[in-house]
Amino acid sequence: MRSGAVLEGDRVALLVRGSQAYLDVVVRLLTAGVFPIPLDPRLTTTERQRILSGLDPTLVIEDERALADLAATLPAPGLPRGRPMHCTSGTTGTPKGVWSGLLDEHAATALVEEERELWGFRPGDVNLVLGPLYHSAPLRFAMGTALAGGRVVMPGPFDPETVTAAIESERPTTMFCVPTHLQRLFAHWDALIESGGSPPDLSSFRLVAHAGAPCPSDVKRRLIERFPPGSTWEFYGSTEGQFTACRSEDWLDRPGTVGRARPGRRLTADPDGTLWCVVPEHARFTYYGDPERTAAAWRDTEEGPAFTVGDHGRIDADGYVYLDGRREDLIISGGVNVYPAEVEQVLGACPGVVEIAVYGVPDPEWGQRVCAAVVGEVDESALTSYARSRLAPPKRPKTYVFHDALPRTLTGKVRRTELTAG
Ligand code: ATP
Repeated sequence: MRSGAVLEGDRVALLVRGSQAYLDVVVRLLTAGVFPIPLDPRLTTTERQRILSGLDPTLVIEDERALADLAATLPAPGLPRGRPMHCTSGTTGTPKGVWSGLLDEHAATALVEEERELWGFRPGDVNLVLGPLYHSAPLRFAMGTALAGGRVVMPGPFDPETVTAAIESERPTTMFCVPTHLQRLFAHWDALIESGGSPPDLSSFRLVAHAGAPCPSDVKRRLIERFPPGSTWEFYGSTEGQFTACRSEDWLDRPGTVGRARPGRRLTADPDGTLWCVVPEHARFTYYGDPERTAAAWRDTEEGPAFTVGDHGRIDADGYVYLDGRREDLIISGGVNVYPAEVEQVLGACPGVVEIAVYGVPDPEWGQRVCAAVVGEVDESALTSYARSRLAPPKRPKTYVFHDALPRTLTGKVRRTELTAG
């Protein structure tokens, strides 16, 4: 590792909290052809070592001072010549470093332009950042806004009260969130109303996009009711790329969909449900230092390169995608495929259920047994009879475990491995 000025092609790990200075350094590094690797500053020493050894950074920035010193050596913000090298959330194992390599000017311009066209980033935008910048979507929205000449507001680690205050004082126009953010904001606004106060004025928003985890129907309906008409969107994407986009109004006609392929992408489903995304050449990536995983993720098609992140789903005749879940989450019970997402959707509507996560545990007779972790004011007999009339026998949970809250990642995903471990 080196501590002096960085050179084109270098990789710089950023282990500091998101801020304007951080965002500025990310754009300047990319302008210089240097790859920022945004990481969670709260990683333990062991986690840090494990991730960093796989990513091989030339420089590691661990405090604001080092960030400022680095900024002083960098060129002014210009065209990013690559994508920040982000790590996946590690929901299904160790985080994977997604690496785009250096882009030529044509590819770099195409990448910036297609983001701008997709979300309409413009000079008057005020992007309210709710998630950490070491996750790809919050950083993409912040960078897209900054590159278009807009302003970025970062109220810090997510807290409904602070976010509400920022909405009132900053009048944001855009926001990316995960469903958990929405749930916590709505609960806070309900409490405000109950105590005689009023929820914030949301009329400044032109774009509220959510992704990253399934959004419960009631949350989605409240989102549509509360925010300005036409402003709310869902997309399905991952650290590797964004696959779909869906106006909430379209979701009303097709509940459960995560939308259709975004412009410039095509989605296909294999007979076993594995989803693939056909992308233009400039959207290619590798998993850093892992050629085998990279080779398994990609295949060539007549229309161009296609990759999968291991999600399963189906695509209807009009091209709308419905996710079944991750390949890794699939439960095979007595030879029958059970997708947690389907069972969660059905039982999530049982009166009293606030949150539910379905997972498999080893079973000597069935291979795997379906279990459900439940949060809410509901008992096992109510759940059992609700399941009996709505789910085929192999899909009905055999065990219910009651929790005060489900373990979730910062991206809002349930940590199923934690539930499986018991
Ligand atoms: P890892 O690959 O390391 O296990 P991860 O896949 O959780 O981590 P991310 O890139 O943060 O890391 O998450 C992408 C995944 O999130 C997608 O593959 C998909 O399973 C899920 N997801 C994304 N958007 C949606 C959505 N709108 N609805 C439901 N699930 C979604």
